[in-house]
Formats: sequence, C-alpha cells, structure tokens
Amino acid sequence: MGFILEKDVTSQILQFESFSNFYYREYAPRKKTTPINWFLDPIRCYASNLYAYQGEDSRTGDPVIGLRCLPATYDEAFMVAHEMEHVFRKLDKLSLLIRPKHAEVEHSVETLKDLALRIGSMFDDPIIDPILQNQYMFDIAYHYSEDINRSLEILNNSLGKPQTDIDILKYIIYYTTRLLQYDSIRDPSALRKWQDYRKILRSKLGQITKPGEELYRVIKENGYDTPKKQRQIFNKIADIYTINGVKLGNLLELLNL
Ligand SMILES: [Zn+2]
Repeated sequence: MGFILEKDVTSQILQFESFSNFYYREYAPRKKTTPINWFLDPIRCYASNLYAYQGEDSRTGDPVIGLRCLPATYDEAFMVAHEMEHVFRKLDKLSLLIRPKHAEVEHSVETLKDLALRIGSMFDDPIIDPILQNQYMFDIAYHYSEDINRSLEILNNSLGKPQTDIDILKYIIYYTTRLLQYDSIRDPSALRKWQDYRKILRSKLGQITKPGEELYRVIKENGYDTPKKQRQIFNKIADIYTINGVKLGNLLELLNL
C-alpha cells in the first residue's frame, strides 16, 4: 500500500466536468480541516473486487481512500467521487459506523471490517449515487451498466456458488444494494440490462436472491434515509443473520449510538 499525492489522483479526472464541479464544490471547503489521505492499494482492491474503498487511518483517524490504480476514465472519476461522498457523509455524521466487536478466532478482523463496510454501503450507496446524479450530472446508469459487465465476467469465471456463511452474506448485501440502487434508474436500456442480469442471478444463485429480495422489502418498508432508520435495520439484520452459528450482532457493532 503506497501513499500518493492528491494531484496525482485528480490530474487525469478533473477534465470531467461532473468530477471537477463535485471536487471544487464539495471537497475544496473541507480540505483545510479534513484532508483525505490517498493510497494505492491494488492488493486489497483486487481481493475485495473493488475499484476503491474508504476508511480511517488507524493511527490518526484521518479519512483515507485506497485505490486500485490512478483514476483516468469517466467511470473511475465517478467511483472516486462516490468514495469521497462516503467520507463527507461520515464526517457530517450521516452514516452508520459499523465495526467488528472483538477479534474473533474464526474470522480475521479484515474480513469482518470488509463485511461492516459493505453493510454500511448498502445504506449509503443508494443515497450517494442519486446525489451525484442529480447535483453533479454523473451518469450513474452508465456506471451501473459497466458494473454489470464486470460482475458477469466474475460470475462466469468463478468456480462455483459462494460456500461460506460470510461469502453468502456478502453476496446478499451486494444484491440488496443493487436492488436499492436501481430504484433511482429511469434509463430503459439500463433497466433492461439489470432485469436480464437479475434473471441470471436468480437462476444461478437462488440462495442469494431470495434473502436479498426479502431484505430489500424490509429496508423499503422501514425506510433508510436517516441514521436512525438505518440503525433500526442494522439491529434487525444483526439479529437475523448468523455466521457459523454466531449471530451477526455478536460479531459487529454500531459505533455512533
Ligand atoms: Zn459506496
């Protein structure tokens, strides 16, 4: 994992109007007090199938964003803006902070941290993307279509169904997040592509799509637009799902109660 300068992160993507508007309006006013530390972290990004992730420096608590590579394309500019918005929402106390409860023998802290990040993203991604779409004209339908292409590739190359409880839960969270995200897509061809992809997932991975659709219903009924409502859903999830016989609520906890 290598520290990189911000100008190297932004040099190729400030040419995109959506990104530069976002960068100067949202980040410039915050940069003095809470600058983001940037890292190249291809190993973790590849391992988690992510282009980028965000978190805190374990020593200083400062926000960090890890990247697979230096961003150059429009899609990568969108993903950088998306992670930055996660950071801002956390600073503004609009996001749940979920963390591993204690070091479990069976799971590494990193695995549980990754799961916690994904559950937090399930609530925030469907809020962040419409902000980027409506205020900064990012084309999220295009990004989601690119995401389906990548996911289909992974699905076709993977050796089988997810086996462990933790992988199954991660997949359920992924699918539920996508269901919530597509609620804000209106583009007919993007929606068709999503429905085709859903059909494939349903036929190949019924053990993921069924609970994912249930979880989606729970979230829609409860609402998830405030930290309070997100907390209610987290508590339900923590009670329902188990990993190797251990309740999720015994593995993860909320920080900002
Ligand atoms: Zn996200």
